[in-house]
Amino acid sequence: MRSTIPRKQFAQHWLKSEKVLDRIIKAANLSGDRVLEIGPGTGILTKRLLPAAESVVAVEIDRDLCLKLAKQFGASDNFLLLQGDFLEMDLDAQLAAFGKFQNPNKVVANIPYNITGPILQKLLGTISVPAAKPFDSIVLLVQKEVAERLYAKPSSRAFGALSVRVQYLAECELICDVQAKDFFPPPKVASAVVRLRPRLIETPAVNPRHLENLVKLGFSSKRKMLRNNLKGAVDLDKLVQLLEELQINPQSRAEDLSVAAWIAVSNNLWPEDIVEQ
Ligand code: SAH
Repeated sequence: MRSTIPRKQFAQHWLKSEKVLDRIIKAANLSGDRVLEIGPGTGILTKRLLPAAESVVAVEIDRDLCLKLAKQFGASDNFLLLQGDFLEMDLDAQLAAFGKFQNPNKVVANIPYNITGPILQKLLGTISVPAAKPFDSIVLLVQKEVAERLYAKPSSRAFGALSVRVQYLAECELICDVQAKDFFPPPKVASAVVRLRPRLIETPAVNPRHLENLVKLGFSSKRKMLRNNLKGAVDLDKLVQLLEELQINPQSRAEDLSVAAWIAVSNNLWPEDIVEQ
């Protein structure tokens, strides 16, 4: 198995650190869980998941790897391999015929970095359309720069639109940093393991689609003040007044607003304040 040549096209980097695998398995805290793994690759993580989980569904796009994975794990009756593009796949439909693999409750994966955003969206849903059946936890090995955005606190450099969108839907925490040399071939960037716990936010937005639009606009030009980014979209006098009420400096940038502040802005600056563009 060692000699499986990584393909750039599928963002293949084989993890080789046993220590990192230990951290991932510990963070997933498995017992009687039905796991979804995206991009098993040569199966280094799969091998650890199978004895710890009730079942493992692995989705792998690379046909050649699928042949090898089927050979390696085909005899395990708690393993199901689906060949295809995770982003295109209707997982519920694929699993309909496989009783004990249905409705996986945890995700554990070292994912292809080039499609991290779309994978997160597929796993969590969006502010306006959250996942219908949220996972209990999602442990992912991702690019460090993305990890930093996921667990960023407001007013920090990394706090951006992705932070608001994901933190609206899940608690996010750093599990550990991972170095490029822990992979073959080493990726150009540093990595990190994160754990997301999807949950309903305590005070959801009254109009989630409106919040989604405001976040997109608010972060559209990172250097501008929030009120300049929202010019033409909301009544600026009302925005300034609201920021003052929330004890937020009216000169703030989008990254200075916590998720709660974003919700307050979207709840108080209603669509009737929006000037048709
Ligand atoms: N989990 C393995 C491999 C990580 S590399 C390890 O830790 O070593 C990323 C894996 O995702 C590769 O096996 C690649 O073929 C697979 N992959 C890439 N794009 C995919 C997609 N759209 N759907 C499913 N798997 C994909």
